[in-house]
Amino acid sequence: MPAQQFDTPPVLIAGAGPAGLIAALVLLRNGVPVRLIEKNDFLHPGSRGCGIQPRTMELLHQLGATDLVRALYPLGSNRSYRFGTLDIVRDEPFVELKTSTVHLPYPNPLMIGQCGFEGYIRSHLAKYGCEPELGTELTTFEQDENGVTAHLSKNDGNKETVHVQYLIGTDGARGATRKGLGLSFTGNTPDTFRMLVGDVRMTCDKLDYNHWHRFGDFKSKTVMLRPMREVGVDNDGWALMIGGPEIDIDKLLDPEGSKEVIFAVIQEAVPAEIQFKELVWKGQWKPNMRMVDKFGVGRVFVAGDAAHVHSPTGGQGLNSSVQDAINLSWKLALVLKNLSPPSLLDSYSAERLPVIAEMLNITTELFKKTASGADDAWKREDRLRMLGVNYRRSPIVLEERSTGLDSESMAAYGDAVEGTTPVAGDRAPDAARLVDAEGKEYTFFDLFRVTHHSVLIFASDVNSAKSILDSLQKHSEDAIRPIVVLPQGASGGSGGALALVDRDGHAYSGYKATEGETVVVILRPDGFVGAVVNDVEGVGRYLQKVFF
Ligand SMILES: Cc1cc2nc3c(=O)[nH]c(=O)nc-3n(C[C@H](O)[C@H](O)[C@H](O)COP(=O)(O)OP(=O)(O)OC[C@H]3O[C@@H](n4cnc5c(N)ncnc54)[C@H](O)[C@@H]3O)c2cc1C
Repeated sequence: MPAQQFDTPPVLIAGAGPAGLIAALVLLRNGVPVRLIEKNDFLHPGSRGCGIQPRTMELLHQLGATDLVRALYPLGSNRSYRFGTLDIVRDEPFVELKTSTVHLPYPNPLMIGQCGFEGYIRSHLAKYGCEPELGTELTTFEQDENGVTAHLSKNDGNKETVHVQYLIGTDGARGATRKGLGLSFTGNTPDTFRMLVGDVRMTCDKLDYNHWHRFGDFKSKTVMLRPMREVGVDNDGWALMIGGPEIDIDKLLDPEGSKEVIFAVIQEAVPAEIQFKELVWKGQWKPNMRMVDKFGVGRVFVAGDAAHVHSPTGGQGLNSSVQDAINLSWKLALVLKNLSPPSLLDSYSAERLPVIAEMLNITTELFKKTASGADDAWKREDRLRMLGVNYRRSPIVLEERSTGLDSESMAAYGDAVEGTTPVAGDRAPDAARLVDAEGKEYTFFDLFRVTHHSVLIFASDVNSAKSILDSLQKHSEDAIRPIVVLPQGASGGSGGALALVDRDGHAYSGYKATEGETVVVILRPDGFVGAVVNDVEGVGRYLQKVFF
């Protein structure tokens, strides 16, 4: 089929939060123009989703947003005090800090306020001339086999009807897309817990700006302050949470209420001199744990909070939104470029549903512990780093090397244990010191990109990889890029496909390849292993699952 030219954007993205911004960037990187609309006529200034997990950092790297990864900063430790005192009763890290390795360059969660995260992604979009159209709301839509007709309402009173090939609803928990599709949103909304969330600008010599400070607990009353560099100026920005039965939340949330009532509660919790400057924003948070039963119907999809809502405990929401958006968008790009059949899009729901279901269970358990003031409520297990999130059960992955995977090893939120054999559906590990014929060094993460599949052919020499290389020639070089990975000590190939010598053996050890045996690991544009196969026929079997 001929490659498609786009006169107008074929995709409308409704909602310019993290999910919408990332979906837009993946599509634009793939040469697909988008229109990105945002109901609000302002950019939210809040720090809300600030905990960025290692897996998200890897995906941002492969998305070419390393500037954002470099801007992340450490979580610090979690200091707790009795309410109204400065006596530290506990001071412990949220996570066990791990050392980076060649296979895992980003081992630990880090932070950036959501407003900062979004700003970095918007600056990448701006390079494509794309910016969110503020004050533009998706109201309703219809679809048929040819496309989607979306009705937009502008905050200047104008209305617009737009025709697109696909609609992505990244319009958050209360958005119009999920409702318009009539998707179920199953779960529960306990009415027993509420808290105020927001950001303040203030300074206090007694609060070390490198750590989180938690006064009291949710059993009676609590004030939590978390340093957030993006919110303030010169280290005066803090994320704020206030809750507990002894706090009059209604009074604090009253839209007519003054910021001083909130400052007074902070002052009561923290007996030290505080210079209050500004209440940046405030809002209510109530537990709401729900998810859709499918991530789309026909030509309309939901991603991020539009598809699942849950407790922020564990810092999975923004991260899951980013991962939804990437999963959908690389597939949509292939379909729009006439390289893959529309049925590929069915795998979006198939892959994300089990991951999100497990994420909801994990974060709900953590929320219960936090609300009850359990001792281990703030301990963050390794799996929250999301390195074990996998699509092993996906209908579009193909594993032909490892056999007999048991059901436990198929859990969608597996524990990522370094050193195990990666199988189809797993996160693809990094490797460093891969050297080409000219002596130039590469890492895998610098070669893996959201724009193409990378076919790693582990072979003793380029000749042994020839039949596989030949079979790939009928595919667009833009969509599938082969890399021959030669063992330590081999002489580099020249001409044709990229051939890299694994100088320190990191690639062979990370992918459990054996010198002298040919194995092919096909990496998807989202940094997951699509296939592990042994020969040219296996490569063909995988490509048939994804491409025309
Ligand atoms: C206090 C707090 C702390 C959190 N901490 C973390 C954390 O540490 N780590 C983490 O991963 N997550 C965290 N989260 C969760 C995270 O903030 C959300 O999961 C994330 O914002 C979801 O992104 P999204 O793009 O799916 O939705 P949103 O950010 O909600 O964006 C949706 C956008 O769509 C717009 N919109 C709505 N309706 C329409 C319409 N009809 N047309 C056009 N636009 C529309 C909205 O105005 C909004 O801008 C936290 C949340 C809170 C509240």
